[in-house]
Amino acid sequence: MFRIGTGFDIHRLVEGKKLVIGGIEIPSKKGFLAHSDGDIFFHALTDALLGAVGYGDIGQLFPDTDKRWKDRESRIFLEEANKIIKRLGYSIVNIDGYIVIQETKILPYREKIIENTAKILKIEKGQIFIKGKSYEKIGEIGKGEAGFAHVVVLLKKEENK
Ligand SMILES: [Zn+2]
Repeated sequence: MFRIGTGFDIHRLVEGKKLVIGGIEIPSKKGFLAHSDGDIFFHALTDALLGAVGYGDIGQLFPDTDKRWKDRESRIFLEEANKIIKRLGYSIVNIDGYIVIQETKILPYREKIIENTAKILKIEKGQIFIKGKSYEKIGEIGKGEAGFAHVVVLLKKEENK
């Protein structure tokens, strides 16, 4: 049995913050303004995993009113979501996502992001793909004032679970 999950995330980009996507620090004048490190890819992916099994969402599990999650690396949200899907008997078939940022090219970092994500989720690199995209200068994302990620994940139920 298969289950599909989708997630998206958006954060404002401001000067003086680190730009972290997929756990990889990317050189940039601006970074994400957020309670945690603002990793849009990991947040969208966490939501997609939790949504696929109907467990809840990232805001419920890791509320931004909780000091425990302040300035934390977003990999902990992803690790937690991975544990939940495994506990429910599911494994990841594949992950496909978009990272939409106007001013920073994602392509040179794609391999690193995929590698790091695969390591955290304990899956193969070939199970993950990411596309970088600009926003054709439209609106706030197009002006480089925010970054956006969208992720789709497919899970399959392990036999005997
Ligand atoms: Zn977020």
